[in-house]
Amino acid sequence: MPLLVVGSIAFDSVQTPTDSRDNVLGGSAVYFSYAASYFTGVRLVGVVGEDWPEEHTKLLEDRKIDTQGLQVMEGQETFRWKGKYEPNMNDRETLELHLNVFENFNPVLTDELKRCPFLFLANGSPTTQLKTLEQMNGPRLVVADTMDLWIEIERDQLMELLGKVDGLVLNDSEAKLLTQEENLVKAGHMVRAMGPKFVVIKKGEHGAMFFSEHETYVMPAFPTADVVDPTGAGDSFAGGMMGYLAQKNDFSPATLKEALAYGTMVASFNVEDFSLDRMKQIDKADIDKRLEEYRKMLSF
Ligand code: AMP
Repeated sequence: MPLLVVGSIAFDSVQTPTDSRDNVLGGSAVYFSYAASYFTGVRLVGVVGEDWPEEHTKLLEDRKIDTQGLQVMEGQETFRWKGKYEPNMNDRETLELHLNVFENFNPVLTDELKRCPFLFLANGSPTTQLKTLEQMNGPRLVVADTMDLWIEIERDQLMELLGKVDGLVLNDSEAKLLTQEENLVKAGHMVRAMGPKFVVIKKGEHGAMFFSEHETYVMPAFPTADVVDPTGAGDSFAGGMMGYLAQKNDFSPATLKEALAYGTMVASFNVEDFSLDRMKQIDKADIDKRLEEYRKMLSF
C-alpha cells in the first residue's frame, strides 16, 4: 500500500564528539522515506530551495521514492539545521535552525496523494501537519511525529492534531515536555489520553516504549557499538515501522509489534554513519538478517 510522508527536507550540519559533517542531506521526511522504501512505495511531499542539488532527488528516486510532491522554491534556501551531540551520543543541542522555505511550507496534495491510505506527518509545524491532514481522503492510518520546538511554540495546534491522528511517535524528553511528567509510563498514557490510539516513545540507545489501551511494552534497541551519528534515528525508526505496516496493510497489535522491531532495525543501521550513508549500503536482506539476530537475542 502506498505511504505518504510530509515533513522537513534539510541540509544538516552535525558535530559528534569525534567527527563532524557540514550541509549533508537530512530532514525528517528524507530519513523517513528512505527507511520506509525498503518495505513499500513511498510518496514524499516537502519543500526545498534553489540550492537543492538534483543528485539528492536522484538518490531518493533510485529507491523508487516518488518525488513529484517535492516543491522547489526559486530564489530561496532549503531548511538548515545544525546540531551537536553530547559525549553520551544521546543528548544533543540545536546550534542553528534556519527554517527558510520550510517556514511558509504549504503542502498541496494532488488527488492521487490525497487517496494514499497510509500517512506519516513527519516532524514539522503542527499547523502544516493539520493542513496536510485536512486534504486527505479517508486515510486508513495516520501517524505523526513532533519535537520540542513545536511543543513549545505551537502547543494548541499540536493538541488539535493529537485529537485527529491514530498514532504519535516522539522521544522521551519530548514526552516529558508535553506532559510535564517524569515517569515515562505515566507520560505515555497521558499522551494517549490526548487523542492518539497508540503512542511510541523513543529512548535512543534504550529502545522504544509502546502504549495502547491494552498494551504497554518496551522494545530494546539493537545493541550496536558503531554509533557514528544518531541524527535521523527517530525518523528512520518511524520509516521502518510505517513502511512495514503499509506493506502488510494491517495494524493489528501483532503487526504493530513486528513493525516496531523493523523500525528498530533500520534505525540501528542509520546511526552507523552520517546522513543516509549507511542506509545507502544496505538492502532488505540486511535488515531481515539483523532482525533474526534480534529475535534470537530476545528469546529466553
Ligand atoms: P531525529 O534525529 O530523528 O530527531 O531527526 C533529525 C532530523 O530532523 C534532522 O535531519 C533535521 O534536519 C530535522 N529537524 C531538526 N529540527 C527540526 C524541526 N524543528 N522541524 C523539522 N525537522 C527538524
